[in-house]
Amino acid sequence: MLVIGLTGGIGSGKTAVSDRFARHGAPVVDTDQLARELVEPGQSALAEIVAYFGPDCLDDAGRLHRARLRERVFADAEGRRRLEAILHPRIRNLVQERVAALTTPYCVVVIPLLAETGKMDLMDRVLVVDAPETEQIRRVMARDRVSETQARRILAAQAGRAQRLALADDVLENVGDLEALDRQVAFLHQRYLALAAAWPA
Ligand code: ATP
Repeated sequence: MLVIGLTGGIGSGKTAVSDRFARHGAPVVDTDQLARELVEPGQSALAEIVAYFGPDCLDDAGRLHRARLRERVFADAEGRRRLEAILHPRIRNLVQERVAALTTPYCVVVIPLLAETGKMDLMDRVLVVDAPETEQIRRVMARDRVSETQARRILAAQAGRAQRLALADDVLENVGDLEALDRQVAFLHQRYLALAAAWPA
């Protein structure tokens, strides 16, 4: 099966794009979603996180306090590496497992931080959703009701546009309206079906 890695900066439109692939019948494996599943109570990853970061990173109900942990690793490079060492191998294994169970011509794996963490072996092509930074900031402010300063802070902590675009096999310029996005995804869907038909089994 042809595996498309989909990435893009915050607010670039990854979810809007992956939702549209799903409507065309392409399965979407979302690594953010897998990361959330992996830290559910009872999971070994959560136990390792608590062992390293302490019980402070849990809320009263014993669930991961994501905001607190995020603040903690934002200022602590060693903690961030530790958290990545706990989560990334597990995410990779889960992606492999989910993709292996699929039977469609192609699938989409959404990996927001691909430029930061590197491409996974199983990805055959990288699709970068790209938008100007001013547009990313505008969308994030509108969607998450954060200030421009906060939106800029998140953007500054991510890889830059050029770094992401350097990894792209395909680029989706998400600069028009949602109807334009429909057409762009429909075009890519046909392209991936054609590529998948010629893909080694
Ligand atoms: P994040 O990295 O935060 O998960 P994302 O890359 O998944 O963000 P989306 O959530 O898809 O980005 O898009 C951000 C916001 O902008 C959403 O509210 C979405 O509906 C809107 N949006 C995305 N693309 C367009 C577009 N072409 N026209 C209008 N609105 C758009």
